[in-house]
Amino acid sequence: MPSTLIDLHMHSTSSDGKLSPTAVVQLAAERDVDLIALTDHDTLRGVEEAQAAGREHGVAVLPGIELSGRYPDGQCHLLAWLPDPIPAAFLDWTHVKERDRETRAREMVERLQRLGLELTWDDVRAAAEFNIGRPHVADALVKTGAATSRKDAFERWIGNDSPGYVPSGKTEPAEIIERVVEAGGIISLAHPYSLKLDPAALDAYVQRLADVGLCAIEAHRPDQDAATQAAYHALAKRHGLLVTTGSDFHDREREEARLRPLGRSGSPGISDDDVEALLSRLPGARDALAG
Ligand code: AMP
Ligand code: FE
Ligand code: FE
Ligand code: ZN
Repeated sequence: MPSTLIDLHMHSTSSDGKLSPTAVVQLAAERDVDLIALTDHDTLRGVEEAQAAGREHGVAVLPGIELSGRYPDGQCHLLAWLPDPIPAAFLDWTHVKERDRETRAREMVERLQRLGLELTWDDVRAAAEFNIGRPHVADALVKTGAATSRKDAFERWIGNDSPGYVPSGKTEPAEIIERVVEAGGIISLAHPYSLKLDPAALDAYVQRLADVGLCAIEAHRPDQDAATQAAYHALAKRHGLLVTTGSDFHDREREEARLRPLGRSGSPGISDDDVEALLSRLPGARDALAG
């Protein structure tokens, strides 16, 4: 176990997590995590609250966000960590991303209505506290009787190959990376498997992103086996990129079901050297740990 325990990928009620930003930080404190980043989908909304909780509970909290890139046949999620304070121009742009998510959710409701479901916009809006994700649409589908569970809702209606699906990303990944770099942040490709590319195509894709400023690959996730992890390490090495680690925590039930213990990397774990390399590049990380 590395001496500094970090978790750079976590969700709260600002997007599709089940715990408030404060509760996420409390949980991290209980598990002796030294540094976290809140990385809600397409919003920085929960960061201030998480940082206030971090000061109270002795956890360093970096501003973060998981941005959805345009990617028709899967998901391209980019994790960004920003300097503190967050540059105003970047913060303003994230408000556009928040509106994109709302537009996309409305498009999904319209599709589902055309498919004959009695789902209203209010049902979906009421399922989320802030940024709407498919898990909220799934909950609304369960509530209105169109699905028996979240899983059933994804399988029948809103999974990537289902009739009610609308992709979340409206911005080209290269533009996202350029904006993060311009803001002084760094960016990591989250769960590369969701790109659904074979190894050669993944290499070519990562090369294109690295050319415009991608900094890292999310190689460590508790829900990944050692072989996948090793492959992502090698991928990062080939392109001169760092590796990042995170639980992708959403809620306690999913944490148990999908083995995503907060703050702990999967086997064989991120090394001290990897953590040190990361801390040197993450804006404000050393100061946050010292403070
Ligand atoms: P979105 O970013 O709005 O497209 O929603 C993506 C989120 O939906 C992910 O963070 C997952 O937590 C969740 N998700 C994706 N596929 C499934 C599935 N098949 N069953 C349950 N949840 C899923
Ligand atoms: Fe999510
Ligand atoms: Fe993701
Ligand atoms: Zn995530």
